[in-house]
Amino acid sequence: MLNKITNWFNKRPTPSKKGVTTKSIANLFRKQYPTLITKESYTKPQYRSTRWAVLHGPCYGEKKFKGTLLIDLSQMFEWSQNHAKKTWTNQTVTQEAKEYFPEWLTRIDLETEAVTILDKGQYEFLKDYYSDFVNEDWHQIYCPQCKVTYKKLDRQTLNKEKTGSELSWTIQWKCIVGHVLCRHDTSIRLF
Ligand SMILES: [Zn+2]
Repeated sequence: MLNKITNWFNKRPTPSKKGVTTKSIANLFRKQYPTLITKESYTKPQYRSTRWAVLHGPCYGEKKFKGTLLIDLSQMFEWSQNHAKKTWTNQTVTQEAKEYFPEWLTRIDLETEAVTILDKGQYEFLKDYYSDFVNEDWHQIYCPQCKVTYKKLDRQTLNKEKTGSELSWTIQWKCIVGHVLCRHDTSIRLF
């Protein structure tokens, strides 16, 4: 849907000189499709974040993650600030969670070892970036079979296949002993 709007925006006879910005898309969306913006608003957490948060794992009822992927929130202030500037979603809870997140991180509690559980809004805007965070080395992963939290991770891409215009593959992550921590099939359509 956002792509469609971006295309339409670019095709206007007199496109704005500034080009398409996150703000202009958000404003256009509010004007043209107000009913598609969800009404439920975000409730700011009343507690401080700790250094480590669960990004993925069985505790969120996820099937593809058997291990628990933790991310280091003490590294994420700058990323979250940029991300809030550059992206916009019509899901109000997610959008407001994303906008509030950098401010929340300024009060991070680095003394407490408890792990932070993300709320729904935070989870929604962070969940798709797990590979990026692992690439940045902002992670740890808990293997329930070893009962050990590892930094090292065996990341594999299997079953790469191209069928017509569709590219598909399987992502598999294992602990260093060989237990599967994450596995899922994914695909993209090429144009
Ligand atoms: Zn293991």
